[in-house]
Formats: sequence, structure tokens, C-alpha cells
Amino acid sequence: CGIVGYIGRREAAPLLVEGLQRLEYRGYDSAGVAVLGRSGSTRTLKAVKAKGRVRELEERLPKRFAGSTGIAHTRWATHGAPGDDNAHPHLSADGKVAIVHNGIFDNASELRAKLAAEGIELASETDSEVLAHLVARAGGETLEERVRAALSMIEGTYGVAVLHADFPDRIVVARNGSPVVLGIGEKEMFVASDVAALVRHTRQVVTLEDGEMATLTADDYRTYTTGGSRTSAEPTTVEWAA
Ligand code: GLU
Repeated sequence: CGIVGYIGRREAAPLLVEGLQRLEYRGYDSAGVAVLGRSGSTRTLKAVKAKGRVRELEERLPKRFAGSTGIAHTRWATHGAPGDDNAHPHLSADGKVAIVHNGIFDNASELRAKLAAEGIELASETDSEVLAHLVARAGGETLEERVRAALSMIEGTYGVAVLHADFPDRIVVARNGSPVVLGIGEKEMFVASDVAALVRHTRQVVTLEDGEMATLTADDYRTYTTGGSRTSAEPTTVEWAA
């Protein structure tokens, strides 16, 4: 239903929660947030999810939920009942990948069966969770290649955002039939499924087309096709009555 992502220098969690609140008008049954934090020299993903309102998610967030990169979601369940486990973000079995997904993966039951046969324990009943495992198992030097490989196995509609603990400097997003908008800030970048979640922070936006992906780092962004060729992405200024 709703996606928000942030990469920059500020604490991600409060910005993500506020972004989710701005998407509440669209309706949802659960919400969740994941941030990429540091423990010593290693990067770790932490996720908190809650059935019900964003308010309940906020109450569940630990006092220390530090990290300046994160993704968040409000879910409108299509596959799997509303509940804490089915709420997004979904993590890979090794805990290194977190994803949020809007839309429907049509071949999810085949992919779930295939992953289960390979010994992966699925943590939810959703169609979406497969993406986290597929990215974690994908070959490729870069996160972009791994996300592309994972998406090539998936049929259906999506707006997705992916975090990977081994590639902590970026968020990779993709669109096929479900809106994804980048918000271009000063030394910080946002992504959302709806400009309403971004306009408080920036009016400079790039709307992805179907079949487009993007990489966000704190200082830069680039867009390209799922085939890997660069696309032009001049930001446009959104008009918004505050
Ligand atoms: N199909 C996914 C699910 O049921 C995503 C639904 C949504 O767009 O919120 O979890």
C-alpha cells in the first residue's frame, strides 16, 4: 500500500514514521519500519512491525533504533491475513536483506515452494517475502545486479525498496505497475509511493516509469532500466499547498 525510504545523515526512524503517517489516508492494516544500524564495525538490520495503526508501530519502536538509512511500509493485505508477521519489511533468512513491496507477485506460491524446498524457512504468508530471500541468494557483484536477478524471477506488479547490510551506502528501488517517487534532498534522499510522504522535505521529485529502477545514496541518485541502461532523471518541482 505505502512505501517510504530515507538515506542521509539524520535519524531515519522518526522521518520514516512521519512519512507513514502522511500515507495513512490511503488506508492500511499494519505497518513496519527497518533501519540499517551499526553494531561495532558491522552493519545490522533491525525491523519493527505492528498490526494496526502507525501509532502502535511508533509505541513499539525501541528507544535506541539508530540508523540513518531505512525503509518503511503500510500494508493493505492481499496475500496472508493482517498481522505482525505478515507486515513489511520482510527480512531474508540471514537477516541481511530487508524489502518492502506494494503490489502483487503472481508467481509467489511457486517461488515460496521452491525456496522452502531449498531449506528456507518462510517467516510470513505473504507473496512479498520471497523477494528478500531471492535477493539474499542472488549472484552478482553489486546490489543492483542482485535485485535485478531477483526481480527477473518474479511475475506481477510492484513498487519495491531494498536494503542490504553488505551494501550499506544505498537503497535500491524498482517499479512495475505500482508508483515509486524519488525525493531529491540536500545530502539526503527519499523514496515513497506517493509525493505526500516527501513534500515536507523536498519539492524536487523524480517519478519512476514502469520497468525502471533507481539507486539512492545519501549524496546522489541514478535511474536505469531493469536491463541496466541509464535513463534520464531530471527532477521536476511539485507544487503543493502545505
Ligand atoms: N501483496 C503484498 C502483501 O499482501 C503487498 C500489499 C500492499 O500493497 O500493501 O503483503
